[in-house]
Amino acid sequence: MVTRAPGCTVLITGASKGIGHETARQLAERGCTVWLTARDRERGEKAAREMKGDVHFLQIDVADPASVARAVEEFATASARLDVLVNNAGILLDRGETVFALGEDTLRQTLDANLLGPWRMARAFAPLLRKSAQPRVINVSSGGGQLSDPSDWAPAYCLSKTALNGLTVQLAMALPGAAVNSVCPGWVRTDMGGAEATRSLAQGAETIVWLATEAPQSLSGKFLRDHKRIDW
Ligand code: NAP
Repeated sequence: MVTRAPGCTVLITGASKGIGHETARQLAERGCTVWLTARDRERGEKAAREMKGDVHFLQIDVADPASVARAVEEFATASARLDVLVNNAGILLDRGETVFALGEDTLRQTLDANLLGPWRMARAFAPLLRKSAQPRVINVSSGGGQLSDPSDWAPAYCLSKTALNGLTVQLAMALPGAAVNSVCPGWVRTDMGGAEATRSLAQGAETIVWLATEAPQSLSGKFLRDHKRIDW
């Protein structure tokens, strides 16, 4: 049962392709007002134009503090509140290196996009989220960040997602009444996941869309996959 859309205002980062794009598409189809954001204006505007529903484009590079600051200002001129922030944008730069071989730049860039990006977004949009009756923040994380089932195939990426999960817990405490959760979409066929991945885009977006719409507001500070809680 859909409990929140229509009328729900959602902002999704990194939504010109992949899981973010599919999440935007599904939420727009359910009647949400969707702010499809991307760092590339041309591709983002095209994606928003081609999507059915109430879809707006906003340029955001989550790794650039000035871009986030400009975006929140522009958003606030058009919308008095934000109901759902989906921190989806992410990068995977390393694959196969050990944690010792990892370049410092790679680690820095990865943390900047995958950890500091969601933190910047949440901090900038918190005043607008607080104006929502049922604010929600969804951090798109990864099983690669699980400490209970550690992975070493991409140390920078995995570290960034472990840290993102820590951010989820911090945000849940800092935003009482809000539902703030991490979600693992599974292994999804996108540019990042590759063609061999086991899940379709629709499957990858499913739990994100559920958290944005139907999940109980009291569900917060958790890590989920397929609608169920998983270990950190
Ligand atoms: P994708 O197809 O590579 O899409 C990633 C999106 O993030 C792109 O739109 C990209 O924009 C955007 N992005 C990257 N850096 C950004 C920045 N600094 N500012 C704004 N946007 C930025 O990957 P995906 O598979 O859909 O991944 C979406 C999320 O799911 C990521 O957080 C990823 O870690 C997570 N995830 C994916 C899988 C999987 O199997 N695919 C598994 C677990 C978790 P550009 O087009 O401009 O590069």
